[in-house]
Amino acid sequence: MIISNKKTSFIHKIIDNFIIRNTKKKICTRFPPDPNGYLHIGHAKSLFINFEISEKYNGQCNLRFDDTNPDNNHQKYISVIQKDIKWLGFRWTKKTKYASMYFQKIYEFAIELIKKKLAYVDKLKKNDIRKYRGTLNTPGINSPYRNQTIEENMLLFQNMKLGNFPEGQVCLRAKIDMQSPCIIMRDPILYRIKFSKHHRTKNQWCIYPTYDFAHCISDAIEGITHSLCTLEFQDNKQLYNWIMKNITIHHQPKQYEYARLNIEYFVLSKRKLNTLIQKKIIKQWNDPRLPTLSGLKRRGYTASAIRNFCNNLGITKKNNLVEISSLESCIRKELNLTACRTMAIIEPIEIIICNIPINYQQEIKIFNHPNNHDMGEKNIIFSKELYIEKEDFQENIKKRYQKLTLGQTVKLKYSYIITAHSIKKNKDNSINKIFCTIHIKNKNQKYKIIHWLSKKHAQRSEFRIYNHLFTTKNPSSKKNLLSYINNKSLIKKYGFINKYIVYNSKKNTYQFERQGYFIIDNILSTKKNIIFNQIISLKQNWKNKI
Ligand code: ATP
Ligand code: MG
Repeated sequence: MIISNKKTSFIHKIIDNFIIRNTKKKICTRFPPDPNGYLHIGHAKSLFINFEISEKYNGQCNLRFDDTNPDNNHQKYISVIQKDIKWLGFRWTKKTKYASMYFQKIYEFAIELIKKKLAYVDKLKKNDIRKYRGTLNTPGINSPYRNQTIEENMLLFQNMKLGNFPEGQVCLRAKIDMQSPCIIMRDPILYRIKFSKHHRTKNQWCIYPTYDFAHCISDAIEGITHSLCTLEFQDNKQLYNWIMKNITIHHQPKQYEYARLNIEYFVLSKRKLNTLIQKKIIKQWNDPRLPTLSGLKRRGYTASAIRNFCNNLGITKKNNLVEISSLESCIRKELNLTACRTMAIIEPIEIIICNIPINYQQEIKIFNHPNNHDMGEKNIIFSKELYIEKEDFQENIKKRYQKLTLGQTVKLKYSYIITAHSIKKNKDNSINKIFCTIHIKNKNQKYKIIHWLSKKHAQRSEFRIYNHLFTTKNPSSKKNLLSYINNKSLIKKYGFINKYIVYNSKKNTYQFERQGYFIIDNILSTKKNIIFNQIISLKQNWKNKI
């Protein structure tokens, strides 16, 4: 199912070596989302890596929700994340896992650390913990509670568990080294108090393990061999290994890091995406301008195009900003082969063919795809009153041939040669109608070809033209993200499609000739009012790009 990665990455080399040393071990990876928002295309990279490896090495890949923060973990996100992963074409092995399935075991490991004098309950306030931790240039200071006895710590931890302390008053910390050059190793927090209701364990617990404590233990319990994460967890690896060394657990997973995906004009962070929704810049997580998987899907991206994109990325250890054109070219290449061609007029102007009778109608048979006749054909109708694109006509034009103008001849695609001879104007001097006549083709002449629709056979539709959501290439690097919002990221236009296009949730992607690729918006469209989302232009650097 997964397109095999043509390049062998450093992770594949690590796994190849692992297999030589551990002939009997099954390769086991996992995808560990925090259920605090929708998945984005950065997660697609992580999914691709983990699932590609499990498939290549005949191993397994677990889906495990890292649900250690009841404040922002929600069931609605869990359902959407599962749906999005399936949509991308990935199937996790066995049942869905949750870090919360291991809360009891994680708790017991905390007790083990207390009993080994490797953890203590700290009564310092949050701010003091931060102050005592020091900085990159100054070492940390030991908490005055660091040397409590095992009994004192046991009693305090019990009381934490029983809910006898308010949130934030005490926490369990690992006793490692406040002087460590690695700040994460300066007595990191292992457990904190939270009275929020957990989506799975409800009110069973009021203490929750931190990500660092829960993650490595969950990996170990599940027999994960290669725990793959992004580079920002590089420092956390020391803690990961420290926990693994100091608790009694048979399996010892190893963490490896790779570069996070960043794409031009996108923010790939659930937290930042959530800010856009909170600030009402975007209404929903599935807005077609967002890089969320549900947004990309609604925009018309296919799962195979996204998987192809991930395959092309490879796995490296160097963070970089991927050009948006490399994502766009994946969908453009695919749609070029699969999308039915048809004509639509997005900014219409009416033309009247004067030298044919009022009721004249002519059926014209055209192929759905010029190079793939297996995709079938359809009939379009030519008649007296037509729509053409406003920009295909210009009253006063210097450079002839490029457009229809008075006295100028153009070819209507799949149809006749016409010449414009007069126009009717509105009060505001804008053009109301253009009067044309059909001509006999002059074989020696070159004609500009324009597209058109029969007015009688056209249905009014909305076209949503999208642009980058941000005015800067690397919005994630900006402190004030919201000052870089492009207020022209969505432009709504009202034009016409051929009536034969009916609302159909299966066959819903089209190439509107000369305009680009469009998809019917399945959420907003109705049978009577079809709304199209522009997927992508026909060529790179289209006129509407900023
Ligand atoms: P976000 O900031 O979007 O919430 P996260 O890392 O906190 O990202 P998780 O839900 O914890 O999100 O991520 C699940 C997995 O996806 C992790 O292994 C994480 O490293 C990986 N991941 C997240 N974002 C990216 C990205 N941009 N590129 C590659 N992998 C990513
Ligand atoms: Mg996270």
